[in-house]
Amino acid sequence: MWFRVNFVFILEREDQTAAIRGRTLHKSHSLNSVVASSNKVNLLDFDRQGLRDFFTQIGEKPYRAEQVMKWIYHDLEDNFENMTDVGKALRAKLTEACYIGAPKTLLDKVATDGTHKWLLGMDSGNAIETVYIPEPTRGTLCVSSQIGCALNCQFCSTGAQGFNRNLSTAEIIGQVWVAAKYLGNVTHQNRRITNVVMMGMGEPLANFDNVLKAMKLMRDDLGFGLASKRVTLSTAGLVPLIDQLSDAIDVSLAVSLHAANDELRTELMPINKRYPIAELLAACQRWVARKPRTSITFEYTLMKGVNDQPEHARQLIKLMRKLPTCKVNLIPFNPFPGTQFARSDAAAIHDFQSQLLNAGVLTMLRRTRGDDIDAACGQLAGQVADRTRRSAELRKRQNQGALHAL
Ligand code: SAH
Repeated sequence: MWFRVNFVFILEREDQTAAIRGRTLHKSHSLNSVVASSNKVNLLDFDRQGLRDFFTQIGEKPYRAEQVMKWIYHDLEDNFENMTDVGKALRAKLTEACYIGAPKTLLDKVATDGTHKWLLGMDSGNAIETVYIPEPTRGTLCVSSQIGCALNCQFCSTGAQGFNRNLSTAEIIGQVWVAAKYLGNVTHQNRRITNVVMMGMGEPLANFDNVLKAMKLMRDDLGFGLASKRVTLSTAGLVPLIDQLSDAIDVSLAVSLHAANDELRTELMPINKRYPIAELLAACQRWVARKPRTSITFEYTLMKGVNDQPEHARQLIKLMRKLPTCKVNLIPFNPFPGTQFARSDAAAIHDFQSQLLNAGVLTMLRRTRGDDIDAACGQLAGQVADRTRRSAELRKRQNQGALHAL
């Protein structure tokens, strides 16, 4: 809770940000925020085709777009003046017409295990979070797609904050850009970011067009150059959009299941009423049929006494028989202030995993990371100016919790 309180404070007192985090902001970030206030076009909003079209519109050859794209994503350059192989006249023209504006870093924090979290300012009162998780053989960036979320999954702190708006393509790919710059990422050489997962705040399929463009930039050789296996979209199960995604791009799919019977899943995830498990599974089967070399990861957050009993494991095993090439990722529930749920005991988690493994279901257990900076799944809260009033209810529950603790 202290963390959230700190964030609110920082949003109101931006001038103190640098002092609080003990590090000065990158010069480019402060420049971006100045430029972003003008009404020029932000080049981070375009995928490769969009950028080529834009260059054509301003009377330039489309290949120039690719030259600039390489500067933006390989060299992480946001100043046209430093693009040395772009002629002086074009540099001046670009400076007039457009800018390269990533979100502004309000705060960055590093946990003792190396997990890194950035709080990025969007517009007044709104901020989102991006998390980097370093592991021995890979570095995963967890990216947000919306400010808040409309789906209201009962166990998710983003859901509890309500929904404000979709992020633009620039705000989505800008998260990767900011992290890459900070980490000294070099595309195709020294990759600090080897994987991107759309598992931050928001439901990525509900912001389809912007997320698609951003993922194209993640995959593009002139963008961050990541292979399809290394870009993952996680969805709560917007069935028609799963089919649309499979036509639009090659990326990996993760599906948030959390319960293998409709009654419980609807309770936990209201979206299940609209797209029940059978429809969701059918969409997953179509995905696998269209992309034979890929598998789907089913996320299953274990909540004490709610979905962690042997009968729940049996239901999940039965369901996974319909998708034999797919796997299950068990996530110990990450508590947040005001939540009614608790993390399953270590023994229950172990037994649940063993039951699945014994039945031949490929099952992984996600380690919790970044605990000391609240960087775990479902804790990416940022600061949302809620249009649904859900955050007021959450605050009320938090206050009640605080009173009980007295
Ligand atoms: N909207 C997308 C991305 C959400 S975040 C989706 O639903 O898939 C990524 C994962 O974290 C999802 O599986 C989500 O259900 C899970 N999650 C949310 N809150 C959690 C919490 N408090 N503890 C553990 N996992 C959580």
